[in-house]
Amino acid sequence: MRMPLIAGNWKMNGSLALVEQFGQAFAEAALSPSVEVCLIPPFPYLAAVQSALGGTPVSHGAQTLNPEPSGAHTGEVSAAMLAEFGVRYVLVGHSERRSLCREGDADVLARTQAALEGGLTPVLCVGETLEQREAGRTEAVVLGQVEAVFDALAAESRQRLVIAYEPVWAIGTGRTATPEQAQAVHAAIRRRLAAYAPELGEAARLLYGGSMKADNAAELLAQPDIDGGLVGGASLKVDDFLAICQSA
Ligand code: PGA
Repeated sequence: MRMPLIAGNWKMNGSLALVEQFGQAFAEAALSPSVEVCLIPPFPYLAAVQSALGGTPVSHGAQTLNPEPSGAHTGEVSAAMLAEFGVRYVLVGHSERRSLCREGDADVLARTQAALEGGLTPVLCVGETLEQREAGRTEAVVLGQVEAVFDALAAESRQRLVIAYEPVWAIGTGRTATPEQAQAVHAAIRRRLAAYAPELGEAARLLYGGSMKADNAAELLAQPDIDGGLVGGASLKVDDFLAICQSA
């Protein structure tokens, strides 16, 4: 069975004080062993998160990486550097990177491959804009983003990805996809993965992201093809994030 994963994407938020607060809360929290939890802070906090979460079952991840192994790339961070700080997951293709940093499908693929080569688990983020949804193109856009990466990967590598479906219109807007809307896209992604290999469709973990909160998480997570959440705003408050973890 697929182990649910709740990942908190802090984006460009947080502080050392918040890291400490999360470390303490998770040291005391009674987390179910059947749910995996991951915190994804900005780069400067990785070392502090690694030490604050040491001794808890919570893992940590990074928000992006550069596909090159090293060199003259001012401001960038490689997979090997992330691995040195115990990073397990790395986001690729987040809609904010796609729009603000103009990362296209080729960039997302290169980052995915670098993450895999560095022993990290890529969390491939996909999702349609409101305009694309209203034009009836949701499935085409989302499956196109999935295929841009999966078509290029070997079968063993495909099994190592997590996918996060995040409708762009739901990110940071307070406007969550309904459980039915989210489930429909998750089911379409799973069917597409099953066309690569039935066992890939069965085993792949598909997270939902986009204004997931303590009060809507349970019904989203109850959908048959939703295996967890990628949580932005609500991952910055310990109580809200814990409540989401507990509803998985
Ligand atoms: P949100 O962000 O929960 O604040 O909508 C989700 C994300 O961008 O991963």
